[in-house]
Amino acid sequence: MAATNSNGIFKLPEIKFTKLFINGEFVDSVSGRTFETRDPRNGDVIANIAEGDKEDVDLAVKAAREAFDHGKWPRMSGYERGRIMMKFADLIEANIEELAALDTLDAGKLLTMGKAVDIPAAVHMIRYYAGAADKIHGETLKLSSEFQGYTLKEPIGVVGHIVPWNFPTAMFVMKVGPALAAGCTMIVKPAEQTPLSALYYAHLAKESGIPDGVVNVVTGYGPTAGAALSSHMDVDKISFTGSTEIGRVVMEAAAKSNLKHVSLELGGKSPLIIFDDANLDMAVNLASMAIFYNKGEVCCAGSRIYVQEGIYDEFVKKAVEKAKSWVVGDPFDPNVQNGPQVDKAQFEKVLSYIEHGKREGATLLAGGKACGQKGYCIEPTIFTDVKEDMKIAQDEIFGPVMSLMKFKTIEEAIEKANTTRYGLAAGIVTNDLNVANSVSRSIRAGTVWINCYYAFDAETPFGGYKMSGFGKDQGLHALEKYLQVKSVVTPIYNSPW
Ligand code: ADP
Repeated sequence: MAATNSNGIFKLPEIKFTKLFINGEFVDSVSGRTFETRDPRNGDVIANIAEGDKEDVDLAVKAAREAFDHGKWPRMSGYERGRIMMKFADLIEANIEELAALDTLDAGKLLTMGKAVDIPAAVHMIRYYAGAADKIHGETLKLSSEFQGYTLKEPIGVVGHIVPWNFPTAMFVMKVGPALAAGCTMIVKPAEQTPLSALYYAHLAKESGIPDGVVNVVTGYGPTAGAALSSHMDVDKISFTGSTEIGRVVMEAAAKSNLKHVSLELGGKSPLIIFDDANLDMAVNLASMAIFYNKGEVCCAGSRIYVQEGIYDEFVKKAVEKAKSWVVGDPFDPNVQNGPQVDKAQFEKVLSYIEHGKREGATLLAGGKACGQKGYCIEPTIFTDVKEDMKIAQDEIFGPVMSLMKFKTIEEAIEKANTTRYGLAAGIVTNDLNVANSVSRSIRAGTVWINCYYAFDAETPFGGYKMSGFGKDQGLHALEKYLQVKSVVTPIYNSPW
């Protein structure tokens, strides 16, 4: 299969894996059913993927349970786990072209970014946690002259990872990496829109020597496969990334079943605050990237842009020029800046928010409609005159829609920025250190970027405040999510101390 566009012909990746990955084998679903994964460039079917349901989740959990209760992975030294994980990272690195192309085909993500950012960052993530695997330490407790003790950090057990479609690779490694390092076994439920790369990662995990049953992948739908995982009596933890609405459903299922641990990385409506003293071109670039990058399909997208009144008019002019020059098209084309939205449902949802914005009285200054002959491309869109209580200022649109708002004072900016039920991330653009420091302390969000945006790194904890969830991904905080602490106490006899 080949893709064509004005720049030539791009070779599409071969689809090698379409079945569930359970206990080290690719298998059909028990029901034999499949579902279609589609190419967002044109809506065509890419492949039929095994549709996992409750019975398949049961089999995957059984394999993970056996691998946890009796297998080598949780029992081997951290050093040994780390060595195998390093091999896993090497294999990801060796297959960078194919993995990036799979995510481009399945999610409409830019191939250039996949090769330059997503896959190299995945390699980094796995290496980071490989290095952490032998640095999991407890404490010693002196207690009294009669007792002494210590704490052991133990893997939490069988983990279910339920992930969304916007960053299929990053989601896979940021969940699987720390869980592997901790010594857990796991079942990954990728999003139904983007199952392809997860199955490829499962294959590479096996190749690298991760024992059978440790990493399982059950492709399928949320209300069936996802729900079976979050209500399973033999799953010890769910790590979920997705919408706030489904996060609530997952937490309820966990509470109603076995009170499994839950961590949630949910939606956002992140503010980016630009002060008068900012370098205007830099601020326009940052704001455009914060909302248009990955077609706005980013949980921490800077979707509310607050600009101080002194530079507001000039900022609007430049931001509109930038949006109008943004190249939208085939994500395999290196000259393209945005590919299509992931599927028809998202495409329609974003367009309906744009209509809503117009009806609510916001002023449309750029974009506002679909583009291209086929597929799900949307023009980068800018609204001004947006008010805090408008739907487009409150809801997570998950598309390339910038809402621009004006402010006068620092206090007003802080108050407006915090006027949201979410608290995932925020950005500040200023050259005044005091402003940057005091605003970053006042914003109720889990990440604050100063004079940058999307500055991600394996070492930096990421996760929300308020209704954006709890429990961090990335960094050593994420490792802690997959560990539990046991206190061991023993008497000490005849001690003079
Ligand atoms: P989005 O709106 O970004 O698609 P969702 O929260 O709907 O985000 O989906 C994120 C993940 O949650 C996907 O893997 C999806 O299949 C899964 N999911 C959806 N509904 C449920 C559910 N009822 N229980 C468990 N997982 C679900």
